Amino acid sequence: MVNTPAIEGGSPVRREMLPYGQQWIDEDDIKGVVDVLKGDYLTTGPRINDFECRFAEYVGARYAVAVANGTAALHAAAFAAGIGPGDEVITTPITFAASANCVLYMGGKPVFSDIRDSDWNIDQNEIEGQLSSRTKAIIPVHFTGLPVDIDEIQQIAREHNLVVIEDAAHALGATYKGQRIGGLSQMTIFSFHPVKHITTGEGGMITTDDKELYQRLVQFRSHGITRDRQQLRSDEGPWYYEMQFEGYNYRLTDLQAALGLSQLAKADRFLKRRREIVARYIEAFKDIPEISLQVRHNDRESGWHLFIIRLDTGRLKVGRRRVFEALRAENVGVNVHYIPVYLHPYYRDLGYPGGLCPRAEKLYSEIITLPLFPKMTKQDVDDVIEAVHRVVTHYRR
Ligand SMILES: *Cc1c(COP(=O)(O)O)cnc(C)c1O
Repeated sequence: MVNTPAIEGGSPVRREMLPYGQQWIDEDDIKGVVDVLKGDYLTTGPRINDFECRFAEYVGARYAVAVANGTAALHAAAFAAGIGPGDEVITTPITFAASANCVLYMGGKPVFSDIRDSDWNIDQNEIEGQLSSRTKAIIPVHFTGLPVDIDEIQQIAREHNLVVIEDAAHALGATYKGQRIGGLSQMTIFSFHPVKHITTGEGGMITTDDKELYQRLVQFRSHGITRDRQQLRSDEGPWYYEMQFEGYNYRLTDLQAALGLSQLAKADRFLKRRREIVARYIEAFKDIPEISLQVRHNDRESGWHLFIIRLDTGRLKVGRRRVFEALRAENVGVNVHYIPVYLHPYYRDLGYPGGLCPRAEKLYSEIITLPLFPKMTKQDVDDVIEAVHRVVTHYRR
């Protein structure tokens, strides 16, 4: 019965569920956090600036602003970009809802441009077709970590005076034409959720080269308050500060920044391990006709946040759902990234119709995300490969 999928009564490839993503915390991470606990500052202390400086240096940006999570980073960037009521912002439907929600936070309107069938990233031809006099910004997402066509998107932005905010929540360490993602557009955002490349529990970062944007981001993170003498409208004494616009408490703590610092020191090692695992997956699946993969490009290297297989369901006796359930039954913690954002009930109620981005919807109906994280053992990787082979072979037409 070895070759019978667990869903039909065979014994599963694995005894315990393998998650699709997970953090890697070592003793040095723990020590870094404990040191902060023993010190004077739990928040707004020196670790924040250290983390920001090292992060900016790592990605090749002038400034970095640490915030409470990646969604707060998107919100802050949308604010700093000046997005307001009635403004349209173009993004991809194949992303986490936060990439579009940040536009709603500012009273703007997300506009979804369809993806390309090849690399599943936003298609610049679609972007051009959706520009209007109200378009204010573009939020491209480096889906799975694979950089979008940044030069082409920036060209469109220059011609139409738009702000580009890269959502690089999947792309820490990824490169585009030899340069790391993070220093290439007006603003770039990152997330430090435990499934992402490095973690601070919850956490996020915005990078920029622009001093004015930097100052607005810092102020937005802390209630819209400034103490900067140069920015104050009056000066009533040494205690004096001003709240100058509506901001939030989106600060990261020093506990988290300490974790971020020790994690960042390992980012390259984590990325190398992700690439090793991906190389094994690619090799293992290359001769399975039912499976196709995201097309890669010679001029960019993915950050490999996610590894996704696309099923040719015409060649299978069952649909994506059954394959997904069969892999879960093998204790492989597969997932689906993503439900096109505008198909969520909230967006449907705002008036976004089904069928808006046909290529995105087709992709969504055929994809499965396999486990990928640096702490996976060789056995874990072998198990995933075996489970995929077993399930696909079993349901082959
Ligand atoms: C994770 C993620 C975010 C949000 O980050 P959080 O830290 O979870 O708020 C935004 N965009 C994308 C594409 C993500 O994957």
